[in-house]
Amino acid sequence: MEIIVIGAGVGGLAVARVLLAAGHRVRVFEQAPARRTGGKALLVWSNGNAVLNDLGVSLDGVGSRIDRIDALTSDGRLRTSMNIAHAAGRYGFETKAIPRRHLLERLADGLQDGIVRYGMACRSLSQDDRGVTVTFDDGSAARGDLLVGADGHHSVVRRHLWGDGAVQPTTFGTWQGLSPIDIGITDTTRHLMITGREGACGLMPAGDGLLQWWFDVRWSPADPRPAAPLAELRRRFGHWASPVPEVLAAATEDDLEFFGHHWVRVRQAWGRGRVTLVGDAAHIMPPTLGQGANQTLEDAWVLGRELATGDGDPAARLRANEKARYPHISLVSRLARRNPANWRIPPLIGRLFPETSQTAMLARFSNRLTAPALQPL
Ligand SMILES: Cc1cc2nc3c(=O)[nH]c(=O)nc-3n(C[C@H](O)[C@H](O)[C@H](O)COP(=O)(O)OP(=O)(O)OC[C@H]3O[C@@H](n4cnc5c(N)ncnc54)[C@H](O)[C@@H]3O)c2cc1C
Repeated sequence: MEIIVIGAGVGGLAVARVLLAAGHRVRVFEQAPARRTGGKALLVWSNGNAVLNDLGVSLDGVGSRIDRIDALTSDGRLRTSMNIAHAAGRYGFETKAIPRRHLLERLADGLQDGIVRYGMACRSLSQDDRGVTVTFDDGSAARGDLLVGADGHHSVVRRHLWGDGAVQPTTFGTWQGLSPIDIGITDTTRHLMITGREGACGLMPAGDGLLQWWFDVRWSPADPRPAAPLAELRRRFGHWASPVPEVLAAATEDDLEFFGHHWVRVRQAWGRGRVTLVGDAAHIMPPTLGQGANQTLEDAWVLGRELATGDGDPAARLRANEKARYPHISLVSRLARRNPANWRIPPLIGRLFPETSQTAMLARFSNRLTAPALQPL
């Protein structure tokens, strides 16, 4: 089949790889003039890494492995500790923190020239019984048998399918940075998640001496942007236990980037006719569980299996794919709505349950988030 993909982010590039491997002709149209080189780091969990491995994408040599997540109180007491390396052992794939640009580079590596066309912003689309036509801002058009909308948060394809107003802001936002801050964990495989009354702070090594750090704070779209956001973060979190003050002291305003969290209620059938969605276009969620990109990779992988042969009614197969993804995506999405600032597990729990039990709980929880065919036996 001739398949059009809108967007060359994590989802669009992964979809291109799986559908090319299945023997389809694929063209990806991306609005940006070139591949994105900015962005902070993402956590690629074992489930995402398993998909990447199946697509022939290796994360060797980039980012940092994450073997342990320690949840702390704002005064430095351990709430709970999870042995991620053990869970990774069950899946066979490690969890890594990796700057987004490296993930995009690795996903695009090996795609033939001309498959991704940059500077092509999709403006509108229409479909009939035989195919889909898309028009671009420059007035040109393209036609294919199927169209996959991988165009993220502000998806034009989702608006075509669902209309306006589906995406809602939540009550939290993230100030984040990726910078060469050495606070003792930057060269380790340990990720810290610290929560308190003022919000949440996450710290994780991302390779090459870089630390990914973020602060989740209450937020509403009506809030004015603070004139001096770093000073505001220092005022709010500066009294937390080490290493939070050290991170805030080393950070600069130039490092800071803000994201308001958004959420969409996932639909059981999120496409229509010969058009479907993957990734944030279908199920944008807050970054709470670090699963957005991982679930996007799973979307691509499951779609590839559904379209692995050219048989059957294409529209029915797209709906079958959405039906297969729905239970996992809707669970992950509902859980991600709960910000970690609200999950203040009492330190006593960490002392009552041995680390092995906490790790086993994590493995069971991870299985529930993962497409059945990707779960360990
Ligand atoms: C602060 C923050 C931290 C996060 N941390 C994690 C994490 O640790 N782990 C994790 O798994 N996920 C994380 N996520 C979520 C993750 O970034 C997304 O879920 C993931 O990028 C979704 O991929 P996508 O391909 O659907 O969308 P995107 O990666 O946003 O790609 C969409 C692409 O479509 C293009 N596009 C948009 N409109 C058009 C158009 N009209 N025409 C053509 N092209 C268009 C865009 O330019 C872009 O290249 C985080 C998100 C945020 C905001």
